[in-house]
Amino acid sequence: MNIERVTILGSTGSIGVQTLDIIRRHPDRFKVASLVAHSRWEQLAVQAREFGAESVVIGDERHYENLKAALADTTIKVMAGSEAINHVAESYRSDTVVNALVGYAGLHPTLLAIESGKRIALANKETLVVGGDIIMAAARRKGVEILPIDSEHSAIMQCLEGEKRKSIRNLIVTCSGGALRNHTLDELKDVTPEIALKHPQWSMGSKITIDSATLVNKGFEVIEARWLFDIEPERIKVVIHPQSIVHSMVEFTDGSVKAQLGNADMHTPISYALLYPERAAEAVEQFSILDYPTLTFAEVDRVKYPALDIAYECLKRGGTAACTMNGANEVAVAAFLGHKCGYLDIVGAIRYALDNATFTQNPTLDDYDRANEEARELARRYLKL
Ligand code: NDP
Ligand code: MG
Repeated sequence: MNIERVTILGSTGSIGVQTLDIIRRHPDRFKVASLVAHSRWEQLAVQAREFGAESVVIGDERHYENLKAALADTTIKVMAGSEAINHVAESYRSDTVVNALVGYAGLHPTLLAIESGKRIALANKETLVVGGDIIMAAARRKGVEILPIDSEHSAIMQCLEGEKRKSIRNLIVTCSGGALRNHTLDELKDVTPEIALKHPQWSMGSKITIDSATLVNKGFEVIEARWLFDIEPERIKVVIHPQSIVHSMVEFTDGSVKAQLGNADMHTPISYALLYPERAAEAVEQFSILDYPTLTFAEVDRVKYPALDIAYECLKRGGTAACTMNGANEVAVAAFLGHKCGYLDIVGAIRYALDNATFTQNPTLDDYDRANEEARELARRYLKL
């Protein structure tokens, strides 16, 4: 079997580290080409040595000298800055690019990797939230596969294997409800980052954990599903499922519903994306249905979680709307994590940005860059940062 060359953007993060766990289990199958991180240069150096990476990029150029010194006795090429990230995504020889960056920073490298014909294993959902139209069009034009790492989309993809498009009635995306699912509307105004970061099921990076609490994450996943599976937003439903065992479902025209179940462990969807169309011979941890005698489902409270309807609204408007939502959210989540604004200000900032941003109906990549900057500026104004 040919050894596949894999580049990981965001190797020091939650998804990046778990991706390396999968690669470690399949030395006959994968070889690391490049590893990219932003600030954790020491961890990046350790990873690069262990996996024999050919090159590394540290996004924050201030850490370049440290990283270079840490790898001075190796032949590993060391680079820094966002141009270097684009360079490894585009020009560096690899078969698959795993994009596990967080936020808007993922958009350009994904597009460049697609344009240069590389297969994409995509965790960075913001790429599709912001520019799903241009990303999917580029992937179609280049004949490039985009394999979702997000557990809900991995589940849907698995449910759709062997099915015909015309047989699909609805996609049903499950949602744990996040860390604040037992808080009342009134209690939300006093929520601190420490409380919102305690996700009941999943251990993830801080930004997505806050997005899960606000349900911005679920809104983003609806947008992600719209682009990945080319389906009308009205046919993407969201249900609360607190146990996070059913990762999502597909409802078919004949009344059948297929679901994918498993532990709340990202190793499974990561290995599905990396090994597709094969499956790993062994799970990191085996799942037993008997551990979960009760699985429950409920409607989403749309008053408590306004972000979900805002995401549907962005899909309806199209153009730069979802890019604006994403940009404002990134600024507001960072401010909330830094104790510079309250929990309810996150959705407040998104609403303000959407109501005041310039709207472009058929954006180019440059228009997305401008919309992202403007959304960030509007959020800063709203939050008085
Ligand atoms: P983390 O915050 O844990 O990791 C993010 C990674 O990206 C780190 O390696 C970080 O580097 C790097 N990074 C961040 N900003 C930049 C930048 N501007 N330039 C270069 N590198 C950067 O995030 P997660 O792993 O949790 O999430 C990654 C993506 O996957 C997100 O889009 C998230 O929504 C999605 N996702 C995550 C899931 C999870 O279980 N974690 C589940 C489903 C989707 P460093 O740490 O060195 O600063
Ligand atoms: Mg998810």
